[in-house]
Order: sequence, then C-alpha cells, then structure tokens
Amino acid sequence: MTEVITDQEQAFLAKLPTGLYIDGAWRPSSSGAEFEVLDPATEQVLARVADATPDDGEAALEAAHRAQRSWEKTAPRERGEILRRAFELVTARADEFALAMTLEMGKPLAESRGEVAYGAEFLRWFSEEAPRIGGRYSTSPDGVNRLLVVKRPVGPCLFITPWNFPLAMATRKIAPAIAAGCTMVLKPAALTPLTALLLTSVFEEAGLPPGVLNVIPTTSAGAVTGPLIKDSRLRKLSFTGSTEVGRRLIADSADQVLRVSMELGGNAPFLVFEDADIPSAVAGGVLAKMRNGGEACVAANRFLVHESVAEEFTAAFVERMRSFTPARGTEPSSTIGPLVDAATRDKVDALVSEAVDDGANLALGGRRLEGAGYFYEPTVLTDVPRGARILDEEIFGPVAPITTFATEEEAVELANSTPFGLVCFAYTRSLDRTMRLAEELETGMLGINAGVVSNPAAPFGGVKQSGLGREGGLEGIDEYLETCYVGISDPFASRKG
Ligand code: NAP
Repeated sequence: MTEVITDQEQAFLAKLPTGLYIDGAWRPSSSGAEFEVLDPATEQVLARVADATPDDGEAALEAAHRAQRSWEKTAPRERGEILRRAFELVTARADEFALAMTLEMGKPLAESRGEVAYGAEFLRWFSEEAPRIGGRYSTSPDGVNRLLVVKRPVGPCLFITPWNFPLAMATRKIAPAIAAGCTMVLKPAALTPLTALLLTSVFEEAGLPPGVLNVIPTTSAGAVTGPLIKDSRLRKLSFTGSTEVGRRLIADSADQVLRVSMELGGNAPFLVFEDADIPSAVAGGVLAKMRNGGEACVAANRFLVHESVAEEFTAAFVERMRSFTPARGTEPSSTIGPLVDAATRDKVDALVSEAVDDGANLALGGRRLEGAGYFYEPTVLTDVPRGARILDEEIFGPVAPITTFATEEEAVELANSTPFGLVCFAYTRSLDRTMRLAEELETGMLGINAGVVSNPAAPFGGVKQSGLGREGGLEGIDEYLETCYVGISDPFASRKG
C-alpha cells in the first residue's frame, strides 16, 4: 500500500488554488493564517489553505450583496450558458477533481469519478432549468380581477457544506442558485476545501462575474458564519451536515426569519421482504451500505430482514462485504478507503464494541486496521438487540447491523421508529406492498429494489429531523426563488364606464 504522498501527487497539489475567493479575486486570509488539509490514508499534510476570519466572511457577503442586483438582471440563458460551460469544464477535468477528492477525503478513485459525474450533472440540469423559470397568470374565481404570480431570486445566500461529497454537495446548491439569479458565499468543510476551491476556479474560467460566488474555507465555522446569518444582507441559508449543527443554525436563523434549506442526517432502514429477489437485495444492500465507505447520509444504517430469508440474505451479504479491499483510494486495488478522520473511525469502533457488549454477534470485521490512515474493516453485525445505540445513530462507516422482522406492519413500525426520515430502501416484488410503503414510511425518499436513489433530476431531501427543502429535480430551483403575487384590478372596468 502506498503510505506516502507521491511526487506526482505533490506536483498536482502544488497547482491547486488554496486562497479565499472574494469578489472575483484570490486572496490570503486577512489574518494571514492558513490551515492544513490532511490525507486520511497517510495522515500527511496535503496542502495549506487560507483560513478565513470573520472579516473575510463580511467581505464575502458584501461582495455577494453588491453583485446581486446586476446578477439577477442577467438573461436566464446567459446564466444557463455559464452553468453549461462549468459542466463541460468539470467533465473535461474529471480526473483532476477525482484525484483532489480522493486525496482529501479518502474514497477510492473510481468512487470519486462517480461523484464527479453526479456532481457535474447538477450543473447541466440547472443550466437547462435557468430559462424555464416561470410564473402564472390567472383570472380570479369571480371573473373580475387578474392574478399575476412572479418568481424572483431570493438574494444573497450562505452555503455550508460537509466533507463527505465535497463536489456534489456544493454543486447541488451553487447550480440552482446561479440558475435562479442569486449570489452566494460558500463555506466548505475544513476537512475538504480543495475540491471546492478547484470548482471555484472552474466557475472563474466559465465566466461567472465577480461577487456571484465567494468561497471562504475556515477552521472557525461558527465564528465566521454566525455574524453572516444575523446580517440583513443575507436572505437565505442552505446547509448540508449533521442534524445537531442544523438545528442550531435554524435557531440562529430565526432572528432574521431567514429562508433555510436543511439537508441533515439520516438513519436509513434497508428492508428485505420475504418476496424479495435475494441476490439483487444483497447487491443493492452492499451498494447502499458501502457507497462512499458508508460515509453518506443516505447510507443503509439498519438492515431489517424478514425472518424467513434472513439466513440466506446474511450469508450472501457477509461474503460480498468480505470481498472489499481496504487501501488508499489512489491504489488500483482499493475498493474502500479510510474513514475521514480519527474521530469518525473511533466513533464507528465504539458503536461496534458497544453493540457486541449488548449481545450482537460479530459476523465479519469489527476492527480498525493497523498502520497509517483511518481504516476500518467492513463489518457485519447480526442479532443486534433492539435499543442498541448503533440502530439509533448514524454510523457513518462500513458497518451493517442486521435485525429481523416477522410482518410488514412490524417492518414499517421499526423503519419509522427514528426521529430521522431521509431515505428508506425496500426489496419486494409486490406492487401492492410498494404502494403501501410509499404511503406509510415516514421518509423523503424511497428506493424500491434500488440501493441508490440520488439523481439530479429528482428532489433529494428528508422529512422529520432529516431536514427542510429539496435539492435537485424541478423542486430544486424553488429553494432559490421568492413568489411575488401581483393583484390587478378588473381590466375591463374602464370599458364598463
Ligand atoms: P457537520 O459537523 O454538521 O458539518 C457540516 C458543515 O457545517 C461543515 O462545513 C462544518 O464546518 C460546518 N459547521 C460545523 N459547526 C458549525 C457551526 N457551529 N456553525 C456553522 N457551520 C458549522 O457534519 P459533517 O460531519 O461534516 O457531515 C456529516 C453529516 O452531514 C452527517 O450527519 C450526514 O448525514 C450529513 N449529510 C447530509 C446530507 C443530506 O443531503 N441530507 C448529505 C451529506 C451529509 P467544519 O468543517 O469546520 O466542521
């Protein structure tokens, strides 16, 4: 396994932007401070990035505020063309984006390439939505007045994004905001700022005017974004991250009654019914669990399997989980990279040990790997007792707890017994059951015989404590539009004399 950063990678890293991007210019932090970005596979320093201060945050918001008026007046087609150019550039530079992501976040290159394709698709999707922003004209029910409904951009936005999908979590917000005519300030995760900065350079090349996108990596997330959330120049906050932080940001947004979109945590159940096609349920289950090494809000967090097929499903699932090769994501053999940092790895380890202490059976894995990097073995737990912490919390690692159920009613009750409601997966051949699940599961998204539901053309988002609002699909642009209703009095009144 390569345990050091290679010369080739150093040369690549040396060319990546590492400054703040404010008002169309790259600059150092106003304090001169920088922070280190680490490779989670080697624990070595990849780069030093400018560490934004509250003053830099203020300058970024001021730039967004100043640019808003002229930006919202640009032709929708022009905004769409900029997004289209950005899509072409990201696609042409897919290998660079994939390498930056793998280095700073850890996932295997093949998975990073998958994220580049997924993340770029939001740019293309919203390039097509920009010229389709519409309104409505209608006649009042009494036939007298006319009702005009106008859509306008919300205004300057603040985006706060997590480290697990460093490109896609940014494009899912930036693309609809550009399409709608909003300006923005982006604060990427401190663990993974390099991908966001590379994306910023692509927007610069695509011709995005100064001030529309401002990017401020920082290690002082609360101190830098807090004052912006309280600033009347800001009109919208869109956050992707943990429910814990999201809840606090919603409270902070109350002062200004700020519009908020919240893409928060999940606790996805993966249901396997007695009529499921077991080989596809196993393949889908492995995908739903292991995509992004389990570090995904939509990762299958609890496997609920009908007792009549549990043995068959578990045996095949364990074999598929055993076939993963943990290695640095740049290695061709790697099918699972390290977890993002020591804290994430330690949390996963603690959840597994606690479940075993509570009586769960360790069917596979259960250990951190020795040596450099935050690697954890693919792990399967069976007979996990109800009430175990691992069934209630987001695992965010390559660990699959399996429990059983006897009836559909019990499966639905178990699936819903969580404050989260982001996504559910279900394997069944019954159309009637599918329709019942679509009505009874408390979830924002439901995958039927599918281990992945994310799609730029579909509305991504959760219910309950998994969030507010939707990203992608026809709904995605609404998050960046205000509705203004214009009431027009009887246009025929003057004729009636
Ligand atoms: P996190 O700790 O909540 O951090 C997310 C972002 O919020 C980071 O940029 C972080 O900055 C910033 N942040 C932290 N504290 C803040 C504060 N007090 N004020 C303002 N910003 C603050 O979450 P994470 O560990 O990075 O990401 C994992 C979580 O994201 C999981 O819960 C996952 O389910 C969720 N997620 C949800 C979706 C979805 O679409 N629903 C998608 C992906 C991930 P720092 O980097 O400096 O900490």
